[in-house]
Amino acid sequence: MNLILMGLPGAGKGTQAERIREAYGIPHISTGDMFRAAVSAGTTLGQEAKRYMDQGALVPDAVTIGIVRERLTEADARNGFLLDGFPRTVPQAEALEAMLRDIGRAIDRVLYIDVPHDILVRRLTGRRICRQCGATYHLEFNPPKNPGVCDRCGGALYQRDDDKPETVETRLHVNREQTAPLLDFYRARRLLAVIDGLGAIDDVFRRLRAAIEKGDR
Ligand code: ADP
Ligand code: AMP
Repeated sequence: MNLILMGLPGAGKGTQAERIREAYGIPHISTGDMFRAAVSAGTTLGQEAKRYMDQGALVPDAVTIGIVRERLTEADARNGFLLDGFPRTVPQAEALEAMLRDIGRAIDRVLYIDVPHDILVRRLTGRRICRQCGATYHLEFNPPKNPGVCDRCGGALYQRDDDKPETVETRLHVNREQTAPLLDFYRARRLLAVIDGLGAIDDVFRRLRAAIEKGDR
């Protein structure tokens, strides 16, 4: 099962990806998480990515495609994967298609989680993440049992720099412009399923499962 999860920032990709990973036993590959890990580790890649991320801009395609190409060759991705946050541009989608073709594989389904702008802003500005295990919470919609503390591992919760209100609008704008041609790209290949991302997390997950399992396009 080779899946792509799409949606603007805040649509719920990370939240749903964790559930899909558990249900289907495929690795959740998030380029945003990979870049954040590189930033924390202070690697050369991290230093370069941070310049773009802090502004809500996209990291250059060559860099992003390179890290995905490497990640897809790892053993856990041999029987399938769930890409989250990649591809974000048509050149990235074309590069992905070519790299999969080279190894005799193809994308099975592209799931686009659709959420209106005002809700995205509320979800992003209230998002909190565990510094230790990466679990995602929301101050209002999905709060931890004890404020500031991860339910899963007890780690401290923090707000991503790019979730501050001043960056959120730019990110949404940049991503919206980039996403439209990508949706056309996958619609033309009859791979696209558009999922209503409003409502409870479990309800959205049920819709995603139905789209994955029924071949609902
Ligand atoms: P993405 O990975 O697409 O940027 P996230 O999965 O991090 O989005 O979700 C963004 C924020 O919205 C998080 O704080 C998350 O807890 C919250 N969230 C996710 N899904 C829902 C939902 N169905 N209803 C309300 N809040 C949600
Ligand atoms: P995300 O966690 O998916 O919201 O990504 C956070 C940031 O990482 C983005 O705002 C970009 O700066 C960078 N990033 C993540 N994925 C990509 C991608 N596919 N192409 C370019 N930049 C990306």
